[in-house]
Amino acid sequence: MKKGKIIIMSAPSGTGKSTIISRLLENPALKLGFSVSATSRLPRGEERDGYEYYFLTHEEFMKRVGNGDFVEWEEVYQGTCYGTLASEVERVTDSGRNLIMDIDVKGALNVKKRYESEAMSIFILPPSIEELERRLRARSTDTEESILKRLSKAEYEMGFSEYFDYRVVNDNLDKAAEEVESLIKGFIEKNLH
Ligand code: ADP
Ligand code: 5GP
Repeated sequence: MKKGKIIIMSAPSGTGKSTIISRLLENPALKLGFSVSATSRLPRGEERDGYEYYFLTHEEFMKRVGNGDFVEWEEVYQGTCYGTLASEVERVTDSGRNLIMDIDVKGALNVKKRYESEAMSIFILPPSIEELERRLRARSTDTEESILKRLSKAEYEMGFSEYFDYRVVNDNLDKAAEEVESLIKGFIEKNLH
């Protein structure tokens, strides 16, 4: 069976990346499998271990770093680590499905460098910082401290957008999801020949 490709998605937290990814996962034609990352943060809202993330303690996370289990990992927020397990990349791509990753800007660029033409990177931009703040507050899953942390990181993250293969603005959700879908279709089809 042909190995699946890798689709890397990054965006400042609150932009709507998870919302877009959930829609894409509902489309069987794209044959996507979500890359479940490991994190040392606690579950938020309805999140379940093994679905949105593998929730590890900081000690467990660092032990797996030491074992060389990660393709990449970053301390995305001070004291909170996130990483892609090599076993996760293999689990999805070996099954012939295309792996969709939701990872931070540095992790994204590292994965792209490692997998080169086997991977496509997309950066999702919010229409404005004000709208990003509105979305973070409307989501009502984060504490005030966490919202401020996420906002203060957003401009720094947007500075990396030029290094991605593609940029999509999430103003109208339907339009943004369609745009991303068509980029993925183009990438998957191109790689079939
Ligand atoms: P991320 O995964 O980038 O952190 P989410 O997908 O959790 O962001 O979206 C943040 C919030 O913004 C959610 O409440 C979501 O429903 C909302 N949202 C997503 N896209 C849009 C959009 N185009 N317009 C308005 N609200 C949106
Ligand atoms: P959240 O706490 O909102 O779920 O995610 C915070 C940030 O961590 C997001 O920018 C998300 O893309 C990033 N992230 C999630 N998983 C990974 C991963 O495996 N590696 C890296 N480098 N970043 C990740």
